[in-house]
Amino acid sequence: MLVFLPVSLEEAFDAFEQCPDAQLLAGGTDFMVEVNFALRQPPAVVCLRKVEELKGWRLDGADVVLGAGITYTELMAPQLGDLLPGLAQASRTVGSPQIRNAGTLGGNLGTASPAGDSLPVLAALDAKIVVASKQGRRILELDDLIVGPKRTTLGPGEVIVEVRVPAALGSQEFLKVGTRNAMVIAVANVALVVDWAGRSVRCALGSVGPVVIRARDAEELISSRIDWAGRTLPDDGDLAEFTALVRSAARPIDDHRSTADYRRHAVGVCAYRALGRVFANHNGETLERTSWAS
Ligand SMILES: Cc1cc2nc3c(=O)[nH]c(=O)nc-3n(C[C@H](O)[C@H](O)[C@H](O)COP(=O)(O)OP(=O)(O)OC[C@H]3O[C@@H](n4cnc5c(N)ncnc54)[C@H](O)[C@@H]3O)c2cc1C
Repeated sequence: MLVFLPVSLEEAFDAFEQCPDAQLLAGGTDFMVEVNFALRQPPAVVCLRKVEELKGWRLDGADVVLGAGITYTELMAPQLGDLLPGLAQASRTVGSPQIRNAGTLGGNLGTASPAGDSLPVLAALDAKIVVASKQGRRILELDDLIVGPKRTTLGPGEVIVEVRVPAALGSQEFLKVGTRNAMVIAVANVALVVDWAGRSVRCALGSVGPVVIRARDAEELISSRIDWAGRTLPDDGDLAEFTALVRSAARPIDDHRSTADYRRHAVGVCAYRALGRVFANHNGETLERTSWAS
């Protein structure tokens, strides 16, 4: 097998000119599993590990720009973790330390699993994904990039280069339900972002549909019922309505990890708790758990 080791994007694009059927390899934590199970037999591989432009992160005005090659371990580090706490929380739940050292944000997007843990956070943050090829650059919303389970709109020779998200948009929470505490694929995961200045709540659901789902009716309802000046949540009736709308946004299936009913229930509980945590953290309070959300 031919292996290309480019050190720049230009060299990576050249590799695709030499071998158009080559496949991209980042940390290999999804890719190599498929190779080992003979589900993928690439004629050639373009390794992205040494590509300078894909490394690290930077601030650009009000945005944080994350290189596609950034690892979960880097996303959890204090400075970046403070800017993007939801992404740091999601990263903490991914695999084991070895997987978090090798696995990348670009790889999570490239795999496009409905259970990918970074994806609900990116959806709730309205992330912009920059992809590039020899022909130029495109900037995509998450739902323009990921269009089905393990299906992206990436064309031949296109590389995810960076992900742009607003810095410190507001409070962020990520919650994940699995069949055990660690090293687990999500049965359901939820990201919730509260934009205090914009007076809005955004809520994205993973593992409960073919792609990540924004619970837009629930977002709209709760954003209109919060007392933004007092920074207090509405009453139990409104919270129950919010939770019900989150559940109805989910389009889960039964599979070997969970029933659809449980998944639908789980996203409601996670969204309710995420909202409670955001406000509790802000106000130094705790939210009472009610029977319908336990
Ligand atoms: C034991 C184990 C536990 C795991 N636990 C979790 C978990 O808890 N949560 C979770 O979400 N995932 C989990 N994963 C899956 C995996 O670690 C993540 O999806 C990871 O982000 C993949 O990144 P990678 O760099 O290893 O990608 P790779 O495996 O190198 O590539 C994955 C796919 O993305 C493509 N790709 C990679 N980089 C780019 C790019 N820059 N542009 C375009 N396409 C690209 C590749 O061609 C390939 O199709 C786990 C995997 C293992 C083996």
